[in-house]
Amino acid sequence: MKVAFYSSKSYDQEYFEKVNQRFGHELRFFETRLDAQTVKLAKNFDAICVFVNDKVDNKTLKKIKKHNIGLLTLRCAGFNNVDLEAAANHEITVLRVPAYSPEAVAEHALALIFTLNRKTHKAYNRVREGNFSLERLIGFNISGKTIGVIGTGAIGKAFINLLKGFNATILAYDPYPSEELKKQGINYVSLEELLSQSDIVSLHCPLTPDTHRMINAQRLKHIKKGAMLINTSRGKLIDTEAVIDSLRDKRLGSLGIDVYAEEEKLFFKDLSEMIIDDDTISRLISLPNVLITAHQAFLTREALEQIAETTLQNVTDYKEGNVKQKNEVSAEQHRKA
Ligand code: NAD
Repeated sequence: MKVAFYSSKSYDQEYFEKVNQRFGHELRFFETRLDAQTVKLAKNFDAICVFVNDKVDNKTLKKIKKHNIGLLTLRCAGFNNVDLEAAANHEITVLRVPAYSPEAVAEHALALIFTLNRKTHKAYNRVREGNFSLERLIGFNISGKTIGVIGTGAIGKAFINLLKGFNATILAYDPYPSEELKKQGINYVSLEELLSQSDIVSLHCPLTPDTHRMINAQRLKHIKKGAMLINTSRGKLIDTEAVIDSLRDKRLGSLGIDVYAEEEKLFFKDLSEMIIDDDTISRLISLPNVLITAHQAFLTREALEQIAETTLQNVTDYKEGNVKQKNEVSAEQHRKA
């Protein structure tokens, strides 16, 4: 199969070409983002492969169909950037990588927590400049604290697993609690209870109409004073303006994010010589208790290999009429979920 990759980076090309030696597909890598204008690059291809910030709306899907391309394969787990109703209408199969090294994202969430708490990013810069002062570097013990996990699917579970050695109390919220975690003694509570009791809140649920801005001004009023909020899932799970207000009011203690509501314009690009045309992220960057990484939680060697493996297997399965149901995302399945 001839596959056109959009939004591709050097690491995509490196890992996909390596893994493709076992699959033998014809791969072409474009750096540009997929949208209605750039679909034309995929003329004469059999499949399109996209990442988290490619815009796969009705207009784009209509053009994909026009080029007789029947497969859209996502090299990620989240699919909130795809109009699934439109994909069904245009008879385009949408496949994804439902789980790839959930530990990669869970470990990054933990890295954000530890960096924010013990301020190692600040200490590193200080020491490089010959500043050995400890002023304003005070953190807190994780031991004895309460950590709230919102969403206990693959990543939430991996995160809870990592927390086990910390002697912390774990609270969880998920409309579909995991029996396995309950058996392990994990306490599921309401979202309100989790927010009011947790010293650290970590988001691990997908972005859906139900979860859009689930952390909003109203809920932030009830968050435990001084709590740390961690988001490695999707930017639009939080109302960023409300979170900034809460940080300014000193209700929310700190924020660690790997995702940002308007990240399409910024993330995955080197804008270091440009003026950043986004006042909200500029304000976030200016706050001393905010740590931002640019959607890198998935970026481990193991995850990149698994993403390439599953994506190329998805292409082969589609070619052989043997699509794995768990890897398919359809509007119907999504409605049922
Ligand atoms: P998953 O499908 O295994 O688990 C998601 C869990 O969220 C499920 O248990 C589901 O019941 C729960 N959920 C659904 N609605 C909810 C709600 N309203 N409140 C609380 N929980 C709810 O998904 P996963 O593999 O664990 O991934 C979670 C999310 O992480 C993905 O949707 C994606 O957005 C994000 N992600 C980010 C990166 C990154 O690099 N930053 C990488 C991979 C995934």
